[in-house]
Amino acid sequence: MIEIQGLNKSFGSLHVLHDIDLNVNDREVVVLIGASGSGKSTLLRCINFLEFKDSGSIKLMGQDIDPKFCDINEIRQKVGMVFQHFNLFPHRTVLENIIEAPIYVKKTPPNEATETALNLLEKVGLSDKADYYPSQLSGGQKQRVAIARALAMNPDIMLFDEPTSALDPELVNEVLLVMKDLARDGMTMVVVTHEMGFAREVADRVIYMDEGRIVEEGAPELIFENPIQSRTMDFLGKVL
Ligand code: ATP
Ligand code: MG
Repeated sequence: MIEIQGLNKSFGSLHVLHDIDLNVNDREVVVLIGASGSGKSTLLRCINFLEFKDSGSIKLMGQDIDPKFCDINEIRQKVGMVFQHFNLFPHRTVLENIIEAPIYVKKTPPNEATETALNLLEKVGLSDKADYYPSQLSGGQKQRVAIARALAMNPDIMLFDEPTSALDPELVNEVLLVMKDLARDGMTMVVVTHEMGFAREVADRVIYMDEGRIVEEGAPELIFENPIQSRTMDFLGKVL
């Protein structure tokens, strides 16, 4: 689903991603871990073309994506993204937040978009909140709306950038449960998270990044129980 080869990205003189090679298979869940500043968000943003690579190739669903020649908006519809801060439209209801992009970007008929939105709200456990405004929701509920909103575009891939980091601890689980359901349903997912329990339980593969490089990757039990690289050990020693 995602095939990245030799990806490099700099901001000015700061070389943030070094020769990243990464393949993510259909229905695979990959968890990205690493210290602050190691390039995790930048990598996700390159996959979604919120940032443009300097060199290397990115293929999504078998298609080589070069922003110079492709319609980036069309690509972005296939790659949903959920951020740490939910970025909901404050003056729109939950339902309106979810149907906005399908109606205006995808030209889905409003009644169809509404039906899909209501199904998604049921899936994330918020059927009773369709007419609420974001300010009337808890952080966990807002994040579940943000997930429903991303899913409303029917993406092939979902990217999550620390989706639970801004939440009070008691609200983290309800969001992780929705993500677990999504993984179980076979969504292809790349997740940046500090929730090592989630990584252990849900990830097919854990990737450890340090200073813009993939240092180590493998099944969660391998990375957590038996890391090979000393940098991975040091990092896990701090977070586990
Ligand atoms: P965190 O865990 O804190 O979210 P991260 O692993 O997601 O960190 P990135 O946000 O990818 O790290 O940042 C990697 C490096 O790139 C950092 O040094 C950051 O300051 C720098 N950086 C990120 N975005 C930009 C930008 N738009 N302009 C300049 N520098 C940037
Ligand atoms: Mg980040």
